[in-house]
Amino acid sequence: MRRFELATPDSVEACLKTLAQRGADAKLLAGGTDLLPQLKNHLLKPAYVVDLSGVAELRVLDGDAKRGFRIGASVSAREIELHAGLRAACPGFSESGALVGSIQVRNLATVGGNMCNAAPSADMAPPLVALEAEAVIAGPKGRRKVPMADFFTGVRKTVLGPDELLIEFVIPARPARSGGSYMRHTPRRELDIAVVGVASEITLNNGVCGKARIALASVAPTPVRAAAAEQALEGQPLTPQAIERAAELAVQAARPIDDQRGSIDFRRHLVKVLTRRTLTVALERAGRSGGS
Ligand SMILES: Cc1cc2nc3c(=O)[nH]c(=O)nc-3n(C[C@H](O)[C@H](O)[C@H](O)COP(=O)(O)OP(=O)(O)OC[C@H]3O[C@@H](n4cnc5c(N)ncnc54)[C@H](O)[C@@H]3O)c2cc1C
Repeated sequence: MRRFELATPDSVEACLKTLAQRGADAKLLAGGTDLLPQLKNHLLKPAYVVDLSGVAELRVLDGDAKRGFRIGASVSAREIELHAGLRAACPGFSESGALVGSIQVRNLATVGGNMCNAAPSADMAPPLVALEAEAVIAGPKGRRKVPMADFFTGVRKTVLGPDELLIEFVIPARPARSGGSYMRHTPRRELDIAVVGVASEITLNNGVCGKARIALASVAPTPVRAAAAEQALEGQPLTPQAIERAAELAVQAARPIDDQRGSIDFRRHLVKVLTRRTLTVALERAGRSGGS
């Protein structure tokens, strides 16, 4: 690994100052589970590494179903897996945290790192897109909010500039009768990345689907919304036939590649199966979540 200077800022302001001075020569370090292998394999050779572990604001995890949640960029996958309020209000998001790597990886891996590394297979991305979360980003000109649906711009690319820092995610309040689910397929049970991942979020309204959001991972350069499937569900009773039709329509949003981990046809098939399964679980959870 190439030698680098380590900066250890203790505030967002100090971190932004370092980024302003070092620019593209600097790389931010959260849990390091993506960054360290990239440094060791010489894929990145930064002259400066900025350790975020001393920035308390990035570790906030606050909220509930009624207020929504603020989730700091440095909150770990393990915290997302175990936080009782999140598990109750946003079970699909908790499920995605629980699927990242092993316990050892999850204790280090952060949600911010998962998003900023921007792998098409990032597990925590589809639930954040389906929950209509926003990313709060700080830079030299102040703070801005970006919907997670617009955060990713390509494979390992995001809207973040080299002088910007991801602060947190804001998940809006969950209406009563809402439910969600995240599932993925991996060839191996442990320590593998998603060949396809699907997050579904629905809200029931007077016995029909008031709102549906479906986001897919690993089938395009960035996470994608299955818009045609969502539209087919909204305003309709969520019968098994309606769910099956939505699962078929979700395939339209997928632009998968053929590789050693799965063919295009296999990935399309998985989109259909996992959309049907996540919608079925989301419906069951929405039915149990109280309210009208
Ligand atoms: C064995 C193993 C198994 C894994 N399994 C999975 C899996 O099942 N699913 C999955 O999705 N991922 C998996 N990963 C990938 C990785 O663990 C996750 O992507 C993790 O969430 C990355 O978070 P981190 O804190 O370690 O990020 P880091 O490695 O610290 O950083 C990743 C990138 O994000 C940038 N960054 C971090 N924080 C910020 C911030 N606040 N603002 C701006 N940029 C920032 C860094 O500069 C870097 O470019 C696995 C990794 C390993 C090593």
